[in-house]
Amino acid sequence: MELTIAERWFDSERLSDGVTRIWEPHVIRVMQCNIWHVQGRDRDLLIDTGMGIASLSEAAADVFCKSLYAVATHTHLDHVGSLHEFPERIVHAAEAERLTRRSDNFSMLRADHPIDYIAGLERAGYEVGPQFITALPRADFDVRTFARPPAPSTRLVREGDVIDLGNRVFEVLHLPGHSPGSIGLWEAATGIFFSGDAIYDGPLLDELPGSDIAAYIHTMRRLEQLPARIVHAGHDPSFDGVRLRQLARAYLERRG
Ligand SMILES: [Zn+2]
Repeated sequence: MELTIAERWFDSERLSDGVTRIWEPHVIRVMQCNIWHVQGRDRDLLIDTGMGIASLSEAAADVFCKSLYAVATHTHLDHVGSLHEFPERIVHAAEAERLTRRSDNFSMLRADHPIDYIAGLERAGYEVGPQFITALPRADFDVRTFARPPAPSTRLVREGDVIDLGNRVFEVLHLPGHSPGSIGLWEAATGIFFSGDAIYDGPLLDELPGSDIAAYIHTMRRLEQLPARIVHAGHDPSFDGVRLRQLARAYLERRG
């Protein structure tokens, strides 16, 4: 399939509470990660970095006006692509090792990925076409050879650790299941919860390499109790606390 060159690679929208959502409209849905920017007084927070197909730090230079902590909610390819562009990189200890290496088998072609992996995505309800992108970021972009460079973490976090922006504090919740080192960031003062891929309002993935359904059940029991006001997730639109409990319960009914 001939792909045209995108006019711009990222879109963004400013929401309330100093939160901006950035996304890549020319990436297929299953890989289209929400990139979250949160304004703080001393530091800003960047939660996930997309595919890395185009430079996030350049595209969002007007949003990223302060030094920031770049957090990976986990290390799947659609969340850490541009992580190497940022000097302060935070990840859960359980997935730190993956970031030390350049990614392998990371072309934009379906055919280059393990059959089990694609089959798992399709079983969950996603359509995966022949390519992971629907446009090119620039004329010389090669869908067959793209890879993520190493992006070793500069700070490891665990359950209960705190990321402090000066006037805003986010607590790390360790939420394994989708992946072993999945984390969420919880701001108790505002009831805002950044959930990564632990929970979102779309087909959840619990059969990927590294997924663990028993751990996921435990995570969903925790999420069912979280007094969140709004959830900004790793994929798909944000939702409120009522929907959070519905989604957690639906998972527990299916797998529990
Ligand atoms: Zn993921």
